[in-house]
Amino acid sequence: MSLKKGLNLWHTLSFRMTLWYTLTFILTSLLALFILYQRISYITMKNTDRYLIEEVNELAAILSIEGFDEIITEFDEEVMSEGENKFFRLLSNDGTVLRSGNVENFGNGDIHVSDTALQSILKHKKKYAFETLEIANYDHKVRVIYGAISPTVIYNMGESLEKSEAYLTAFSNLVLVLIIPFFCLAALIGWLLARHALKGVEEVTQTAIEISQGTLDNRVQAKRRHYEIDKLASTFNKMLDRIQTLIREMREMNDNVAHELRSPLTRMRGIAEITLTGNGSMNDYTEMAANTIEECDNLIELINTMLDITETEAGVNRVDPEPLNIGELILSACQLFEPIAQDKEVRLITDIPENIILTGDRKKLQRLFSNLLENAIKYNKFGGTVTISVQKENNGVGIKIADTGIGIPKEDLPHIFDRFYRCDRSRSLAGAGLGLSLVKAIVKAFNGDIRVESEPNRGSTFFIKLV
Ligand code: ADP
Repeated sequence: MSLKKGLNLWHTLSFRMTLWYTLTFILTSLLALFILYQRISYITMKNTDRYLIEEVNELAAILSIEGFDEIITEFDEEVMSEGENKFFRLLSNDGTVLRSGNVENFGNGDIHVSDTALQSILKHKKKYAFETLEIANYDHKVRVIYGAISPTVIYNMGESLEKSEAYLTAFSNLVLVLIIPFFCLAALIGWLLARHALKGVEEVTQTAIEISQGTLDNRVQAKRRHYEIDKLASTFNKMLDRIQTLIREMREMNDNVAHELRSPLTRMRGIAEITLTGNGSMNDYTEMAANTIEECDNLIELINTMLDITETEAGVNRVDPEPLNIGELILSACQLFEPIAQDKEVRLITDIPENIILTGDRKKLQRLFSNLLENAIKYNKFGGTVTISVQKENNGVGIKIADTGIGIPKEDLPHIFDRFYRCDRSRSLAGAGLGLSLVKAIVKAFNGDIRVESEPNRGSTFFIKLV
């Protein structure tokens, strides 16, 4: 394996998950085996101690019933009958060995009498004292008991721990033989689990690669995998849907912008051409200049509105919000549009309670009201009315702008907030189809909502909620 391949493998999640899994498995297994080992040695030691206590108690009972002579007989019988892995001693209180048996089986037979054990029996009145001895020239540890069988005699007995040690060694050897294959198996299981868990991620990655090389139409297949992976896949697919929609909208917008720019430019070019090929009178040139200025103004306004929409949607150029009196803003917008309304004999009716205050960007709110008011007058009939009413709602302000104009056909209603969308009947009137897009962007910036109800030839009502 090359160094690069090795590094790549090291950086893969599957490899690291396997490594962590195996290490955790090894550590917990070692800890469990260690605890088991300790537990087994503790239990075997306890069993040995229990046996030693029984022996001491038996001898003490004989001594109290039948006297010291009988003890000697019993002691010698014990020495004869028990195996060679035990030694027996009768000690006086000062540790002098009164009688002993089988000590020669333990190394050179020089088994030390423990002062500490004698002290704990004689001074601290303990019934028994235990010790684990390592005896020179003897290969195994020895468990030793000291127990007072009369006020002057202490019975001292030791049992080799050879069997327990052999048992524990067998256990350790078994663990050592099995541990490597077990750990390899754990690593293999860890690797398979990691591969299985990350399979979904690989599918998402594969789809992303395909998308980066081709079309946006591919999606991660919907399958029942793990919850997290399914969520990742569905979020990824949703993100793709959103990107696709955005790209489609951008394309449409490009087409619309190109179309909107081409018409006035074609018009300007036409006027210039006619003027050039005409009789060259000053009047023609003056008219051409005036037309060009008007077309340019329209174009500038169109571009500015488009920029305003984009900026409002993106939330850039945010000004510090200030408290705004909604009534005042609407009334000043009405004053501004009064002359246009009068031209069309449209009556502006307002129903606005005093002191309804909202915090926000003044200019944006002015654009919102003037766009809606302009439409309500522009698409109204001669002698019609526009009614503007405002009311306070639990967590904001509700505004209603109702007109008695041409109305909006049902099939157009879902599209009127789209950029450059204009209903067929309004094409004869001035406009670029951007006003309501800006209105919607402003309402969104106020965390609000806008909807419309309309009936052709009877009028339209816009409901706005600002927060
Ligand atoms: P514009 O008014 O410049 O065409 P808008 O975005 O303001 O663009 O409006 C989009 C379209 O929605 C208009 O072209 C018109 O067809 C329709 N519309 C908007 N407001 C009204 C209204 N109050 N009454 C009837 N139609 C309306």
